[in-house]
Amino acid sequence: MELLYKSTRNADEKVTASQAILKGLADGGGLFVPEEIPSLDTDLDDLAKMTYQETAYLVMSKFLTDFTEEELKSCIASAYDSKFDTEEIAPLVSAGGAYYLELFHGATIAFKDMALSILPHLLITAAKKNHVTNEIVILTATSGDTGKAALAGFADVEGTKIIVFYPKHGVSPIQEKQMVTQKGENTFVIGIHGNFDQAQSGVKKMFSDASLAKAMGDAGYQFSSANSINIGRLVPQIVYYVYAYAKLYANGEIAKGERINITVPTGNFGNILAAFYAKQMGLPIAKLICASNENKVLYDFFSTGIYDKNREFMLTSSPSMDILISSNLERLIYRIAGNDAKKNAEFMKALISDGRYEITEAMKDQLKDFYGNYATEEETARMIRELYEETGYVTDTHTAVAAGVYRKYKEETADNDVKTIIVSTASPYKFTRSVMNAIYQNKYDFMTDFELVDELSKISGVEIPQAIEEIRSAKELHDCVCEADEMESIVKKILNIEE
Ligand SMILES: *Cc1c(COP(=O)(O)O)cnc(C)c1O
Repeated sequence: MELLYKSTRNADEKVTASQAILKGLADGGGLFVPEEIPSLDTDLDDLAKMTYQETAYLVMSKFLTDFTEEELKSCIASAYDSKFDTEEIAPLVSAGGAYYLELFHGATIAFKDMALSILPHLLITAAKKNHVTNEIVILTATSGDTGKAALAGFADVEGTKIIVFYPKHGVSPIQEKQMVTQKGENTFVIGIHGNFDQAQSGVKKMFSDASLAKAMGDAGYQFSSANSINIGRLVPQIVYYVYAYAKLYANGEIAKGERINITVPTGNFGNILAAFYAKQMGLPIAKLICASNENKVLYDFFSTGIYDKNREFMLTSSPSMDILISSNLERLIYRIAGNDAKKNAEFMKALISDGRYEITEAMKDQLKDFYGNYATEEETARMIRELYEETGYVTDTHTAVAAGVYRKYKEETADNDVKTIIVSTASPYKFTRSVMNAIYQNKYDFMTDFELVDELSKISGVEIPQAIEEIRSAKELHDCVCEADEMESIVKKILNIEE
């Protein structure tokens, strides 16, 4: 049976999976959501025997129903290969009373690789299926990790160009170096004087600009998005939750059907939404623990039912979570509003005009699957240090936010027995300075980034990833910087479109 996708803001807009992937965002600015969440009807004993790639096919084929088996299997084989430094693709590590699901074994050592390794293949396949002849322009705003993962995924992919905007002073030095050294004739990297939300708003504005779309079409181009609003990113992220649960069972850590908690360090709400979809599919998940850093909009939302982005934007040591507008939350709002596009559109309108909205009591009642909290900068650093001192395991700052929130959750709820997965979203090597400063309380802060990398390798016993070795000596190839209100004219210049 064909599964169609509807816009969260317009009940009349319905498309196939491949069209939803191609478009990224729906016409009225809404997000595409599946008409229903398919159920996971495979026996756990069978799931437990599956490789990552087999699990990926099982899960994705239920969502992307207009892809043939051959197409989907070929996308999966091209994505989850030796770009990952472990055959398991997403290994689980037990430390400090939780299971860390390491999603950073791909090309750019952050969890974005899990979806962005496959998105270019899904997109090119979708373009062929829909007889698209335009060149596809991937337009992306990044808080640091999406940018590099998307650049790596799309570099030199025929029929595509990729343009990435990042906050010039809002990413880690290693993140920036990773992006500005990106090779590929079709890659463009631009720093903006502004924060991630400004970059994301600029991108969204271009996506919904009809006259720009017309000018693009005339020049033989069309936009698509690699941001986590694209359903082609969300669906591959459901896979590792199913895989991790099956692995816990296969390893004898849990009984069949035993419910587990999942803690996710959250920014744009994409990763945790994928876990929520996994739960809707029937995966035995008890609580979805939503962890924020000091930009704690989501914590406030889960505690009060009020989403309010009118507040100071904090730059933290977990920059990929420095976000005040969590775009994917819209998919949850739509759902708890009874899949009512009109009602959801009103909330989103209020978010644009007033920067806030308040959900109803009835909607709040439907958030019981979630628990929200946050970790301060100090709590995050302490978490890294204590976990290292107690177990020898080193996490990055984002993962430490999640671990810190899980600790608070246990203190608050006394839920100590339910086994819990903490989603580990980046290699500590991506945020070496913050990690080393946390462990050694700034003692080595005088060192260069790469001296710190070597030091981290010594104390953690973890081999320095290829992604870091690569940029040690790589040449900077991108040096474009602009104001937030110049984004559109930069894009036009790149594409040779008249102003
Ligand atoms: C993107 C990112 C996050 C946040 O994920 P969302 O899906 O945006 O909530 C957390 N940690 C790291 C390292 C990331 O790159």
